[in-house]
Amino acid sequence: MNFAFTDEQRMIASSARQLGERFGLDYWRKIDASKQFPAEIWKEICTAGLCGVALPAEHGGSGLGMVEMALIVENLAAAGAGSTIGQMFMINPIFGGVSISKFGTPAMQRDWLPKLISGEMNFCMALTEPDAGTNTLEIRSFAKEHGDGWLLNGRKIWITAVDTADKMLVIARTKKLEDSRSRSDGLSMFMIDAKRDGLTYSPIDKLGTNTLTSSSVFFDDVEIRADELIGTLNGGWRELLDVLNTERIVTTAGLTGTSELALKLAVDYALDRKIYGDRPIASYQGLQFPLAQCYAENEAARLLNYKAASNFDLGLPYGSEANAAKLLAAQATARTTERAMQTMGGMGFSKEYHVERLWRDCRLFRFAPISEEMILNYIAMHDLGMPKSY
Ligand SMILES: Cc1cc2nc3c(=O)[nH]c(=O)nc-3n(C[C@H](O)[C@H](O)[C@H](O)COP(=O)(O)OP(=O)(O)OC[C@H]3O[C@@H](n4cnc5c(N)ncnc54)[C@H](O)[C@@H]3O)c2cc1C
Repeated sequence: MNFAFTDEQRMIASSARQLGERFGLDYWRKIDASKQFPAEIWKEICTAGLCGVALPAEHGGSGLGMVEMALIVENLAAAGAGSTIGQMFMINPIFGGVSISKFGTPAMQRDWLPKLISGEMNFCMALTEPDAGTNTLEIRSFAKEHGDGWLLNGRKIWITAVDTADKMLVIARTKKLEDSRSRSDGLSMFMIDAKRDGLTYSPIDKLGTNTLTSSSVFFDDVEIRADELIGTLNGGWRELLDVLNTERIVTTAGLTGTSELALKLAVDYALDRKIYGDRPIASYQGLQFPLAQCYAENEAARLLNYKAASNFDLGLPYGSEANAAKLLAAQATARTTERAMQTMGGMGFSKEYHVERLWRDCRLFRFAPISEEMILNYIAMHDLGMPKSY
């Protein structure tokens, strides 16, 4: 077993770190406060070739893999972005890139991948519905045959970055549940324009991840063309899993990078802060132990995520590792940002010291894109062979 990165991987990680540091913490604090999409940094990420790292070379990508993508996300997160940068990679190279490169038509690949990779096109994915979150297979949005294409009706919720997206990956039923062989039968994926007659959205007021909107989306007789079907009609569920499992790897990378950053901010502060004479608060074992524990937990999550990414690149099963890594990373990062805030006392609560943003944003990932409880259900069933409990 070899844990060493190649020279190329080290170089990619280092360019992501340097790019992230050029923007730094103050950039993120500013756009978080003004609730602005991270357009400037995304443009540079794309120009540096980092968005397309795992996408096919023939369409402008680098044709590398998920290990490289994880390294990029982790380093951008640790350089100042925090966990939200994972979402930027989710919406574009994962929701857009994985779906189009694996299941899209040659025309979709030719027309959209180069624009995705260069940052000219942004994407989003609409799966969750008000009555179908964890229970994804209960989605009710329905695309009814209409001429050569479909007419879509339904409602989605919590959809990230609709307002800035050019294209939306929509998952809808194309066969009524009662006519389907199973709940996973009869689902299809479409890649439609995010601005289209009959498609409206309304942003939701929320706790964090302020740089990316989250919206309710309404489809009222939205026309879908025949050439907007992506993947297999009625067989979209299996294909969607490839999109969702790679999404976990990117989420975890954003989280492990965030923990690294929170630890650095906490340690730097603690080394500097003196309250009883000359000894910094960093010398107190009561502050050291919890931070050291967080470090160990984060390293374990990071390593498991590399295994998930490496398995994906080698064409091996990776779902168990990707899920378990995401579970551990979300818990470790929640604890780390909490401990970092505690270490800083009052200053941890101020915007000026950044940890409050990291703490707010990472909370999301304990229940999204998949919740801790559902990962534990998955491990119990798939890894331990226990019966389904729900
Ligand atoms: C900021 C934000 C951005 C998002 N972005 C997107 C996006 O871009 N696209 C998209 O499609 N969706 C998105 N989502 C939706 C997200 O994936 C869902 O919120 C998530 O899947 C959980 O679904 P839910 O909110 O309906 O919770 P529910 O399904 O109602 O679950 C509530 C609680 O019950 C628990 N639970 C449910 N079933 C079981 C069980 N069998 N055993 C034990 N516990 C159980 C869950 O773990 C959870 O803790 C986003 C959500 C947020 C908040």
